[in-house]
Amino acid sequence: MPETTGPDGRNELGLIRPAPDSPVLADFTLTSTHLAENPLIDTPSAGPLIDLRRFADREHLLLASYAMHSRDTAGRVHPEPPHAYRGPFGRDRDRILHSSAFRRLSGKMQVFTGEMGTYHRTRLTHTFEVASVARTIARVLRLNEDLTEALALMHDIGHPPFGHCGEDVLSASMEDVGGFSHNQFALTIVEQLEQRYHAFSGLNLSSETLAGQDTRAHKSEAAIGRAPLLEVQIVDLADSIAYDAHDVDDALQMGLLSVESLMRLQIIQRAMDRVRQKSGDSAGRLSRLSADSSKMEVLGNPMRQLLVHELIDLQVGDLLKHSLEQLQAAEGLSADQVRDAGIRLGHSDDVMLERTELEQFLFRAVYRHPRLMPVREAAADRVATLFATLRATPARLPMRFRRRAETMPLNRVIGEYIAGMTDGFCDQQYEDLSQSSHGPLADW
Ligand code: MG
Repeated sequence: MPETTGPDGRNELGLIRPAPDSPVLADFTLTSTHLAENPLIDTPSAGPLIDLRRFADREHLLLASYAMHSRDTAGRVHPEPPHAYRGPFGRDRDRILHSSAFRRLSGKMQVFTGEMGTYHRTRLTHTFEVASVARTIARVLRLNEDLTEALALMHDIGHPPFGHCGEDVLSASMEDVGGFSHNQFALTIVEQLEQRYHAFSGLNLSSETLAGQDTRAHKSEAAIGRAPLLEVQIVDLADSIAYDAHDVDDALQMGLLSVESLMRLQIIQRAMDRVRQKSGDSAGRLSRLSADSSKMEVLGNPMRQLLVHELIDLQVGDLLKHSLEQLQAAEGLSADQVRDAGIRLGHSDDVMLERTELEQFLFRAVYRHPRLMPVREAAADRVATLFATLRATPARLPMRFRRRAETMPLNRVIGEYIAGMTDGFCDQQYEDLSQSSHGPLADW
């Protein structure tokens, strides 16, 4: 049967025919059983035929030399045969997405608690926003999107309940065992606590995925040592772009911030200029709008959302422009060589300063807002009481954690048990502990 080919030389299956009369291709027929008969393998296909269903071919065609190519992975602790149609980092991403720790992100507060409504971000929605921003950046820079997405989906799974106040309590309670780090705990989850396979504990993720999270757990060392993979760097940058922008959005929506106070910040002025340009409002009508979010409307769109959109877009645009300039000299270098060369992607100097100003403002005006502090203090008290009670009566730990305490310091095990909880689950265990004096608490 004659094959129809599009104007770009690809047929409907994504196969590229570089030369229509190529003798190499003359006898090639692709049937619906191709996949079953010829499992796709981890190496690029031989010859001129590029099969876009093969992740190795896709990477060969689409990724920059300095991207982390799947063919160069150092593999997994427990070796596994290659998958028929998913690359190693795509498998990592799926393992994280299907983990119970990932699902629990929906019950963990980012900055604001559920007592404050349902508009604001949870850790799950934050995580998806980070993954979206990071994937966009990865695609433009021609980095490995699967690895980027795996790292983004994993980056916050180690957060304890009640955000940073929960982390502060655990850190203080676990001082004798080195404190608590949510980035380190994310590694403990994927390496030890997730139970999905008979043969081993954890998710058996690829070496580069684990190393990326380890970089987050050792940020100060990573800042001076060998540069992390570019995919690791952009997830970190996407994380801060996403949370700064959505904290502005959430805080405005909840009335914790006024537009007037924000308008003193350079980066907000820059974003507002872009909103005005796009709406054709050069007379500054927007700047005179009320701080009342219900009145912040322009051209039928909520101004808050226009502002947040521009805030993300200008930062991503600046990061891409600056990164592409930095990477010009890296053309032809491998991922390893780029790390050795110490390339660290980032924003332009102007935007970096403006971001710092925004973050300092948010820290003072939002994270320490009087409406947040009592909620946080009450949550911190509950976490501290739960920890102290389990410390005094370790028999109340679930069986899995009592077993763990046979080979590990009790304070670390209690910290892990509490850190894996959602906000609601933590409150429930706190109630159960105070209402009954015996019996183990529930496992997550
Ligand atoms: Mg985050």
